[in-house]
Amino acid sequence: MSLSQQEFIDLFNDKLTTTLGIRVEEATNKEAYQTVSLLLKDIILRKWQLTQTNQLETDEKQMYYFSMEFLLGRLIESNLLNMGLLEVCENALKELGFEPAQVFTEEHDAGLGNGGLGRLAACFLDSLASLNLPGHGVGIRYKYGLFQQKMVDGYQVELPDYWLNDDYMWETKRSEKAVEVHFGGHVTLEKKDNQYTVHHQNYERVLAVPYDVPIVGYETDAVNTLRLWSAESMPNSFHFHSPKGHDYYHYLDYKRSVEQISEFLYPDDSYYEGKLLRLKQQYFLVSAGLQSILKRFKSKHQSFQLLPQKVSLQINDTHPSLIIPELMRILMDEEKFGWDDAWEITTSTVAYTNHTTLVEALEKWPTEMVKSLLPRIYMIIEEINERFCQSIYFDFPHLREKIADMAIISYEQIHMAHLAIVGSYSVNGVAKLHTDILKNREMKNFYTVFPERFNNKTNGITHRRWLLNVNRDLANKITGAIGENWIQEPRELIQLIKYADDASFQKQIAEVKHTNKEKLAAYIKEHYQITINPNSIFDVHIKRLHGYKRQLLNLFHILHLYQLCVDNPNYQMVPRTFIFGAKAAPGYHFAKQVIKLITATAEKVNNNPATKDKMKVVFLENYKVSLAEKIIPAADLSEQISTASKEASGTGNMKLMMNGALTIGTLDGANIEISDMVGPKNIFTFGLTSDQVFDYQKNGQYRARDIYNSDKRLREVMDKLLGTFFSPDDVEFKNIYYSLLYNNDEYFVLRDFDSYVEAQQHVEQTYRNQQSWLKKSITNMAHSGKFSSDRTISEYANQIWDIHPQ
Ligand SMILES: *Cc1c(COP(=O)(O)O)cnc(C)c1O
Repeated sequence: MSLSQQEFIDLFNDKLTTTLGIRVEEATNKEAYQTVSLLLKDIILRKWQLTQTNQLETDEKQMYYFSMEFLLGRLIESNLLNMGLLEVCENALKELGFEPAQVFTEEHDAGLGNGGLGRLAACFLDSLASLNLPGHGVGIRYKYGLFQQKMVDGYQVELPDYWLNDDYMWETKRSEKAVEVHFGGHVTLEKKDNQYTVHHQNYERVLAVPYDVPIVGYETDAVNTLRLWSAESMPNSFHFHSPKGHDYYHYLDYKRSVEQISEFLYPDDSYYEGKLLRLKQQYFLVSAGLQSILKRFKSKHQSFQLLPQKVSLQINDTHPSLIIPELMRILMDEEKFGWDDAWEITTSTVAYTNHTTLVEALEKWPTEMVKSLLPRIYMIIEEINERFCQSIYFDFPHLREKIADMAIISYEQIHMAHLAIVGSYSVNGVAKLHTDILKNREMKNFYTVFPERFNNKTNGITHRRWLLNVNRDLANKITGAIGENWIQEPRELIQLIKYADDASFQKQIAEVKHTNKEKLAAYIKEHYQITINPNSIFDVHIKRLHGYKRQLLNLFHILHLYQLCVDNPNYQMVPRTFIFGAKAAPGYHFAKQVIKLITATAEKVNNNPATKDKMKVVFLENYKVSLAEKIIPAADLSEQISTASKEASGTGNMKLMMNGALTIGTLDGANIEISDMVGPKNIFTFGLTSDQVFDYQKNGQYRARDIYNSDKRLREVMDKLLGTFFSPDDVEFKNIYYSLLYNNDEYFVLRDFDSYVEAQQHVEQTYRNQQSWLKKSITNMAHSGKFSSDRTISEYANQIWDIHPQ
């Protein structure tokens, strides 16, 4: 797409007149934002319509990515960038008297996700479109995204995220494509001539209305679709009988309960919450999404036998795994397939991505709940379970005593991961270690039964958003050195290796980093009135607050340094700024206490004369995509310190590496692959390995108390949690202390403390030698191409979906 600056200005003025009826001098930043997005959408809509016609005509196979979360952030810049209009738009806005950054900030983040899992889905959409692949997203249009975090006296307070208060500029409501989803009621089977007919009666009817968001690829013509479903009541389906008018109140109850379905996103993807409403949301997504896909398929094809050749359904974690019984239901009850044929089609169409082995995150639904909410679906799950258990009994006699562990239904619960594995043709983990743990430990028995299904697809991030767009100065320096090939072929970043030792390139990289740090410092000064030193090490820990991510370990290091400075006023250290960003799930008490401990530590460190010039601790409020985009370009050090085996992959690690930060990390998730790429000299690894963690869990020989007793530094740090150091009433943090000592520190914080402190000393030594630091930083950037989601998506496309550039 190419437009001259004048053409852009003309389009802008025209839109402003025809939609808002105002002159440019009167327009606010918000109105300028709305105008730019409207004129952009005009251009996108043309291409979108062409793509849809084209995709239907050529009848190429389509992939649909089902996810309860899409953490899109803002789209304005990435749409402009991908359409080749970013620069001309910025110049035009300046010419018209606007500050482009101010205008773009008017877009509210679309926060329809918790963290990594939802952001992964968003990066995948960008890569699918940019690789010209026919792949689309299917999700829920939550009225409220993930809560907004407000800090009050150092505590997290949750506020609703009214992201739809201003119109969402990128969506288009498609009322004519609405479908019905049915809940509750009862089911009877009628047998006639050896054929069953299913009667489902007295169900509640819900209208699912799609809102489509166009997904624009980088310099490609095709525009894919993210279809977000919204739940609406059906006034006409409600029978008003009673002359007394009570029915009206029943109707309001019904309306209210329907609208709740797409009202809010459940917090925290690493914390399983069994709620009826959440189950309703999952079935709503799956049923609505599948119906509309099958409608399209039917418009082209006579027989569903062809479905697996024309459609792949990828499920992002187990949340959408009801798609398996739902597809069976439609094939059998509506399309009149027998069980075996329907099963063959279903298990050749659905593919499953596993995201976690944390026991507390594995989804299980009470059978009673599923039976009453989804009676027909429950019958089908029972049959799937029955046949699966039979097949183990007869075909894998050596696994007979494992049947209870492997069953889909056991102890009155439905195990969604088991359903997902049994009902799909591909099961993938999201990093090498994670896939190995699935194969050899967590899902070992399933791996014995279905070895060909298991495969690895290491996660990735879109380098267009996370490097090209958020760090344009760095991108320019890279292009200056190696040309612009890397934008299309991110693996070409490896050419940077030639410049790792180049003094002039090092200087350029250092200057960009310094400028980015100054910008972040200015932002922090403006919003938090804290002065930070741009020459200090920016030590960054940004991710959801969770025990396994071990923000506590980082804090213990900070408190240890604090103690060193207080004990010795002449203690020499490279100044550091510790930057945190994290939301805690509202019901996760421990995580909220850790947030309070971070802010309490900040108060101490930032104000004590012994520390305030050497260290600063900053907790940035309301961590989200657009905040990550501010922090990451300024980071020196990337904290990836999860308990080994717990972080399936991580993607924050990749974003930071791509922007030249060095990693301090455990041998967990994708950290291992980062280490394999850059070599051990270019990453600071420490701590227990996953095997050591498994050994401790097996032999039960971990004693947190012994480590506490034997390490004076730890005692000094931890005793601060009990005494009056933080608060006069000395109860605030005792839970944290107890969880470590009396509950035996399930995340091995104490065990890894010594090794972490040593790794941090190594960080400091390295940083003192700027040449050596910069060489490592460039080496990290050079190897980051592997972690582009373009690589990940190519692997999915070739090895799982069999889809091709359109
Ligand atoms: C990338 C990203 C995450 C995931 O970070 P991890 O460090 O992999 O947990 C979470 N939230 C946001 C806003 C992100 O951009």
